[in-house]
Amino acid sequence: MSYKIEHDKPNCIGCAACVAVAPDFWEMENDKSHLKESKPMGEGEQREIEEKDKQVNIDAAQSCPVNVIHVKDKAGKELV
Ligand code: SF4
Repeated sequence: MSYKIEHDKPNCIGCAACVAVAPDFWEMENDKSHLKESKPMGEGEQREIEEKDKQVNIDAAQSCPVNVIHVKDKAGKELV
């Protein structure tokens, strides 16, 4: 089962919380965070992750003060 992370990058305020929580997946890039190994999704970013990497990215999403990180399951159901 794989999962998808979506980052609504235009609305990211660059607080770096996601980078602190999940540095294997998130890094700072100028004044926004960047989802490593992601592909563009409109003005945002997306990538697939494995089950083992789901929880740390849910934690990152829950740390985001403006809710611009979302984790979805294969069926497209938003987990966070
Ligand atoms: S936690 Fe949210 S607002 Fe802060 S850098 Fe990450 S995506 Fe941007």
